[in-house]
This record gives sequence, structure tokens and C-alpha cells, in this order.
Amino acid sequence: MIAGDLQSAVEQLGEFIAGASTIVPFTGAGISTECGIPDFRSPGGLWTRNRPIPFDEFVASREARDESWRRRFAMEPTLASAKPGRGHRALASLYRAGKVPAIITQNIDNLHQASGFAPDHVIELHGNTTYARCIGCGRAYDMPWVRHRFETEGGAPDCTDCDEPIKTATISFGQAMPEEAMTRAAELAQHCDLFIAIGSSLVVWPAAGFPMMAKNCGARLVIINREPTEQDEMADLVIPFDIGETLGPFVGN
Ligand code: NAD
Repeated sequence: MIAGDLQSAVEQLGEFIAGASTIVPFTGAGISTECGIPDFRSPGGLWTRNRPIPFDEFVASREARDESWRRRFAMEPTLASAKPGRGHRALASLYRAGKVPAIITQNIDNLHQASGFAPDHVIELHGNTTYARCIGCGRAYDMPWVRHRFETEGGAPDCTDCDEPIKTATISFGQAMPEEAMTRAAELAQHCDLFIAIGSSLVVWPAAGFPMMAKNCGARLVIINREPTEQDEMADLVIPFDIGETLGPFVGN
């Protein structure tokens, strides 16, 4: 069912939330647009401006690594000043109320943690861009260190332990998905009675498989996204309105 107006959408969602005992939210870039972080596929989104750099290109080419880090540093003022929006805060309220055991996110911006989710309860399918890791040994590095090295060495730094490239702790196209996060996300999707997909175009796989998995395991499925998705047809409720407007009434409940 597609909600016809915002008020009835909020009411219907409220009923679903009240009737559910285990709610699993699944978020994409759309929940963070009101925080000033552009998504990928909206008009003017990052996708239209910068072709993503696939993992094999990052590994093979120093130029690609330099470009990747230049893009990341250019995003720093936006990321550093972003605060959780109404969507993040509403989900954190449901988490505090004990209805949400953990959240599955495709986002890399750390805003669910900033809104009050314990880090262990944020299942990051595509990693986190607020810090970096060596792609060889996995050693973690903080951003100020990477930036200092980039500026003093004139390019992308390598690991001080094993000399392999250092990359943001994110999953690029062509890079293996994090096994533990995938397993935990599947368990959550299979054991909830309400699954809410929020702000995702649902075209990036395998992440986009989780709403379908939850539905097939008996959960109600709600999709909140201002553009249609390919999975709308299987949803119990589609809310084609702004995420902040839709979830704002649930902040603090
Ligand atoms: P996407 O850009 O493909 O889709 C975002 C969807 O959200 C779009 O369909 C858009 O119409 C909708 N949307 C945007 N703002 C909205 C709003 N205020 N209200 C309602 N709908 C809104 O994003 P995706 O599906 O998450 O896939 C993009 C990939 O890029 C992800 O894997 C993620 O890792 C990465 N990414 C992350 C961030 C972030 O962490 N904030 C930002 C950009 C890209």
C-alpha cells in the first residue's frame, strides 16, 4: 500500500511500530541528506559528480589512491559538522525504548552512533569513513594522521607496519563484504516482525537483499523513500515522503 498523504502515513507507521516487538531499521544515504551529506543517486548526488573508484583500481594505482584521499579530505568539513537528523533521532528513541535491538546501515557517516546507538549495535555493511585501515594487515589509523602524512609525503600514505595501502574503512565497489556484518544483518532480518527500509534506492547489492529477506521470513516491510524503489511492490507500506517529516513525530517517544 502506498501512503497517500503524510498524516495517514505517520498514523499507519505508528500503528505498525506499536504492534511490533522487534523492529529492525535498514538505512541508506537518504536519512543523512537533511544533515547536509549528499546521497549518491538523487539529482546532483555524488554519483553524478564523481565516478566511484573501484577497489582493484585503488589497489593498482597510486593516482587513484591520491584521488580517493583528495575526495575524502574535501568531504571532511561536511562530515565533521553533520549532526544526527530527525530520522536518526527517531530510530535512536525506538532503540532506547527497547524496540530496536540493532540497526543495519549502508551509511558510512557514523551518524547512528552519534545519535546514541552503541557502536556494537550499528551493523555497518559498507564500513565507516570517519577512520582508515591498512588493506593488508587491517591496522586502524585516524584521519588527522592520514591527512598529515598525505600532506607531508605529497600523496596517499602506506601502512607503517606492512607497507600496504591505507584506505578509508569503507567497502568500495569490488571489495569483499564484511562477513560478520553480513551474518549479523541476516540474523536481524530473519528475526524481526517489522523491517523499515529508510532512504535507500535499494539498488546496491547484496545490501538490498535484506528487506526482501525480512519480508520472506514473515516481517512486515515498510519502505520510506521519496523516489520509488524496485521493492515497493512487496512492501506492506510505502511512504513516498521526506524522511525527517515522516520520522520527526517519533523522536523522543
Ligand atoms: P542512494 O543514494 O542510492 O539512495 C538514496 C535514496 O534516498 C534515493 O532514492 C533518494 O530519493 C532518497 N532520499 C534522499 N533524501 C531523502 C529524504 N530527505 N527523504 C526521503 N528520501 C530521500 O543511497 P543508498 O541506497 O544508501 O546507496 C548508496 C551507497 O553510497 C551506500 O552503499 C552508502 O555506502 C554510500 N553513501 C553513503 C552516504 C552516507 O554515509 N551518508 C552518502 C552517500 C553514499
